Amino acid sequence: MKKDISSLHVPHNKHTAACVPQRIEIPAEVILPMNMHSGHDAEPIVKVGDHVKVGQLIAREEGRFSSPVHATISGTVVEIAPMATASGKETLAIRIESDGKMEVCETVKAPEFSDCDSFLQAVRDGGIVGLGGAAFPTWAKFNEATNPDYKVDTVLINAAECEPYITSDHRMMLAHPELIADGIEYLRKYMNQYLGNATYKICIETNKADAIEVLKKTFAGKDYVVIHELKTIYPQGAKQVMLYNATGRVAVAGKRFPSFGALIINVSSLAKMAEYLNTGMPLVERIVTVDGPAVEKPMNLIAPIGTRISELLKLTGLKSQPGKVVVGGPMNGTAICSVDDPIVKVSNAVLVFDEKSAVLPEASACINCGRCIEKCPVGISVADVDRYMHVENPDRKAKLLIKTGVRQCVDCACCSYVCPANRPLLQINWEAKAYLKKYAAAQKEKEGGKQ
Ligand code: SF4
Ligand code: SF4
Repeated sequence: MKKDISSLHVPHNKHTAACVPQRIEIPAEVILPMNMHSGHDAEPIVKVGDHVKVGQLIAREEGRFSSPVHATISGTVVEIAPMATASGKETLAIRIESDGKMEVCETVKAPEFSDCDSFLQAVRDGGIVGLGGAAFPTWAKFNEATNPDYKVDTVLINAAECEPYITSDHRMMLAHPELIADGIEYLRKYMNQYLGNATYKICIETNKADAIEVLKKTFAGKDYVVIHELKTIYPQGAKQVMLYNATGRVAVAGKRFPSFGALIINVSSLAKMAEYLNTGMPLVERIVTVDGPAVEKPMNLIAPIGTRISELLKLTGLKSQPGKVVVGGPMNGTAICSVDDPIVKVSNAVLVFDEKSAVLPEASACINCGRCIEKCPVGISVADVDRYMHVENPDRKAKLLIKTGVRQCVDCACCSYVCPANRPLLQINWEAKAYLKKYAAAQKEKEGGKQ
């Protein structure tokens, strides 16, 4: 990490900052993929024809890193079939046809917990995952902080929302500051042994003045909570960047985050966790920002998870033919193939670009200007990654790529954004990281074979 973290001033385009989230009408159906979290896919426990209610467990977690899935509307399970997701992977998805009632399941009641283990189990049962992008199961993140080798003294609550357009965290903070407060108290009480004296830093960019005011009022007199105002720059919300800007600590590649003495959680994840612990209603709906150059009326919508994107676009309207639809932010969101795809747990935004703004300029040869390196927040030799991907000898290629620091890449896309030669640097970094992962696995296997 550099001493002075480079960053970009990207256009904010926070057109929906003043848009109070509107709850959509009950969708005719929802589609719930089994891989809405990082880790193993969940395993369906319902069958076609079953009647389900809101909040009912319909897929259990499978394996250590996984997360359960709950019905987000009441109705009938009409299909359990493989579907292709934006990442290119296939997963099973449960399709539920609505009965128009949104009947809440009888099992929905506030969970009971009395110590750290039962608290973590409750967070696990609620299907709570990181809502800022990575979808890492929240209980697993907390569980890492219980490692006796780590001494966590700072909990970073990531409220930066630094990507252009997206305002879903911002609106959640204005609507539910009490849930953020509840979330902090739950952590203080049930993870007291590990986080007892920790400072809770709510890290928020200065472009959310109204939310900063609300948070300051909510936490007045609580000296263990700091509203940490951060410059409005991109990628302020990347965890390595936030760690440095909020604590001065440097994240080292290959080490778990709590080893730097900090835990980081997205602000909406914390609020959703508190909502579940207070009421027993698992993660079944979320705020989604719908915006972009092709959108007629940008809005914030509250929608059941699994709602088709086309349903949201019916409400916002389109003013031109879509050229590209992105779920997440324009810098590191994912382009999707069809507006019939559903929103999932991490879908904080749906951005629709018109045909003109969706055309990528043609890439030309690198002119060695160094801008990609200058703007990389974690100091990666990005142009070298591009070059070394062409090295033929696999051992030499791996050695050179490791030297560039590409394993520390936070996928912010700043390098691609500033490259005058329009090199697809972010995609090249992904390929490099995938290559190094595969190479490391092959080496491990080789070493195992020798024993
Ligand atoms: S995408 Fe990776 S390599 Fe590019 S600027 Fe961001 S962190 Fe650096
Ligand atoms: S910004 Fe683009 S042109 Fe400049 S050094 Fe990096 S890859 Fe080459």
